[in-house]
Amino acid sequence: MLEVTIIKCLSDNYSYLIKDKKTNLVGVVDPSEFNPVDIEISKTYKKLDFILNTHHHNDHVGGNMDLKKKYNSKIICSSYDEEKIPGQDIKKSDGDQFSFGETDFEIMHIPGHTLGHIAFYSKQANVIFTGDTLFSLGCGRIFEGTFKQMFGSLEKIKNLPKNTLMYCGHEYTEKNGQFCISIDKENTKLKNRIEDVKSKTQKKLPTLPIALGEEIETNIFLRCDDEKIKNNLKMNNGSKLEVFTKLRNLKDKF
Ligand code: ZN
Ligand code: FE
Repeated sequence: MLEVTIIKCLSDNYSYLIKDKKTNLVGVVDPSEFNPVDIEISKTYKKLDFILNTHHHNDHVGGNMDLKKKYNSKIICSSYDEEKIPGQDIKKSDGDQFSFGETDFEIMHIPGHTLGHIAFYSKQANVIFTGDTLFSLGCGRIFEGTFKQMFGSLEKIKNLPKNTLMYCGHEYTEKNGQFCISIDKENTKLKNRIEDVKSKTQKKLPTLPIALGEEIETNIFLRCDDEKIKNNLKMNNGSKLEVFTKLRNLKDKF
């Protein structure tokens, strides 16, 4: 069993404190900064065995060095990020396992936002940490990779079991929902989700995690083969990749 605690960082980042209940191992996914993570650890587990980084951006690794110094943690990161991750100890590639006590994580290489971006997926614990590749009702900007790479990465995540709980790097859901509904106007499930997101956001509650199955029904970036979406974009004969490229470009200007 895996326990996940959401920690708000910076303006809209999430770091995730994780504990393997059997062995009491503690880790943090993407510590944006030292303070909020340190405060949560002092209130709870009083230790930090591992730091897991999805990619090299500073809002995901900013707390690495100070946390490592204080808790003597080991840093797990993408081998494709080479020397970009501060304090890195253990490098992982696509398909590698990371045993976190009784919880096994599989490393998925999901390039696009950055070239080295990885996700941590646990089939046993039913969770995936997607960093800045897949957001709820959106996806990350393509900074280093190609549209094709990003699309392939999203397809890879889409193939996981539908009850997998997604934990993303940022709270962008409300804003993302506005874009989705501007394109996918008749989607009732999307409308309901937007209402739910609004009420959570008003109460300053996280809109995450979300089950992948629900996400696939509402996130237009995961529905590039949907006839209504293609029709609304006047791209009836477009390929999935062409539709995705169009959506990502439109979102950049939204
Ligand atoms: Zn990023
Ligand atoms: Fe980020």
